[in-house]
Amino acid sequence: MKPKTISALLQGARAVLQNNGIQSAALDARLLLQAASGLFHEQIIADADAVLDPRSIQIFEHYVARRALFEPVSRILGSREFYGRVYRVTPAVLDPRADTECVVELALGLIDDACTFLDIGTGSGAIAITLCAERKDWKGVASDISQQALDVAKDNALANTVGQQLQFHCASWFDGLSERFDLIISNPPYIKSAASLMRDVKDFDPHLALFGGEDGLEAYRAIAQGAASHLKSNGFVVVEIGAGQNDEVVNIFSAHNFKTVKSVNDLSG
Ligand code: GLN
Repeated sequence: MKPKTISALLQGARAVLQNNGIQSAALDARLLLQAASGLFHEQIIADADAVLDPRSIQIFEHYVARRALFEPVSRILGSREFYGRVYRVTPAVLDPRADTECVVELALGLIDDACTFLDIGTGSGAIAITLCAERKDWKGVASDISQQALDVAKDNALANTVGQQLQFHCASWFDGLSERFDLIISNPPYIKSAASLMRDVKDFDPHLALFGGEDGLEAYRAIAQGAASHLKSNGFVVVEIGAGQNDEVVNIFSAHNFKTVKSVNDLSG
């Protein structure tokens, strides 16, 4: 048998992933090879004809087989980058998305001074931790209905050295919270039906974190209703919404006397 060079391994993996309908086959093959071998991207390019050690090959092939069954790369590797920081991800948390970086960016642009915030449905903690890491004078409560998710968020907060700025609260929506915040932020579950989802999402992200009730808007109703008694005057609510939900979400918040400051499109439009 011919020894397997890096380029042959990558080519083989790309073909397997493509044949299984994975759209990002080339990128995923490379990321999995880097993780399996410990090599950097530039080493993979420079040493394309090098033969990889058998252990790395075994790990790589195992990773590729998992990806072929649509498991996301971040879940195979157990980590994902968000806003330039690394987060541990497990089956208990939504895989943080680049689109959510826009939500963080929007919040950071709204408030200059020291602030207190509530991140509802914190999941991996991506939003809350990024806010604290970017603003050392911000303090927040990261809440989630899932204790398992909160455990992951706590680990991520410690790993990103913002543990001192955050409190963790296991509850549904505003239950058990009596204080008022300058900012309430959330990337809540807003998917209406599983039919619209890719297998990578449907089969691997926790459904609790995805589905927002019959019309996908349940979370916004709960947040709009609770925010009135949990927000300081002149405070802000920042929420991520799904495609096509803008008018309905604006209406829900208007009905609770909120004024929409702005709606922005994320990188996927
Ligand atoms: N706040 C987390 C994120 O944005 C989790 C969101 C969720 O579980 N719906 O990634």
